Amino acid sequence: MMRVAVPVKGRLREPSFHLLEDAGLGPEQPGDRALAFPCRNAPVEVLLVRASDVPEYVQDGVVDCGITGIDLVRERGADVLEVLPLGFGSCKLEAAVPEESPYRELADLAGAAVATVYPRLTAELLPVDVTLVDVSGSVEITPRLGLADAIVDLVSSGNTLRTNGLRSIAVLLESEAVLVARDEERAGPLVAMLRAVVEARQHRYLMLNAPESALPAIGELLSPRVPSVLPLAAEGMVAVHALVPAADVWRLLPDLEALGASSILIVPVERMAA
Ligand code: AMP
Repeated sequence: MMRVAVPVKGRLREPSFHLLEDAGLGPEQPGDRALAFPCRNAPVEVLLVRASDVPEYVQDGVVDCGITGIDLVRERGADVLEVLPLGFGSCKLEAAVPEESPYRELADLAGAAVATVYPRLTAELLPVDVTLVDVSGSVEITPRLGLADAIVDLVSSGNTLRTNGLRSIAVLLESEAVLVARDEERAGPLVAMLRAVVEARQHRYLMLNAPESALPAIGELLSPRVPSVLPLAAEGMVAVHALVPAADVWRLLPDLEALGASSILIVPVERMAA
């Protein structure tokens, strides 16, 4: 039986369940109070814990693997392996100052009071010595309250910074959800199952019909991927199938159309393995 720690609440909980579900594990969404429950389709038990406690549970061997944010793993300084980035929960740890502040870059923060809920990462990633103002939340209002000259906090859209009259001066760390483990080999089967989904989500299966004469140009567009080419019943026409990065689809479509592609279908991929 493999035990996996998953965030009990917060913004990583639902996407984590989604991932386990898409990987075919079939976790039973627990009732309000259940904090441990089995998966329907695999010898995996899910333990619900706070995202910030996941690194420690994995480090101490209470669970084999866990899902949490890279920021939380590094802040804890936990002795665990980040075995698989999961493609959700993306955010950045940024240093920000009030709009009107004279500070322009990190070096300017020497000696400044910096509020954060990430004291360890702040001390580690800032290139100058600062006075840490350790708070447990609402970091963004500390400059306005006169408690700090700058903050170090997680940012995704930047809206919260703007709303609070703050301006980012640097990104200290890029974070996303990650699968952590203590023993890579033991985590292997789960890593393989989750990787198949994470990779699939980043791709689309592209199908189209095209004149055979357009094949070299289409091949060049899709390169380095080599498409499958199938004959069509119509003379001089072929069907082209290829796996493409989801992010490239919108760039590819007009070019493919210009090359005479028709009946273009773009379908999601459920799982993908080597
Ligand atoms: P929560 O439990 O909702 O506080 O979420 C905690 C984790 O979600 C953080 O440690 C990050 O890894 C991730 N996250 C993603 N985007 C953001 C964001 N804009 N603000 C805070 N946490 C975020």
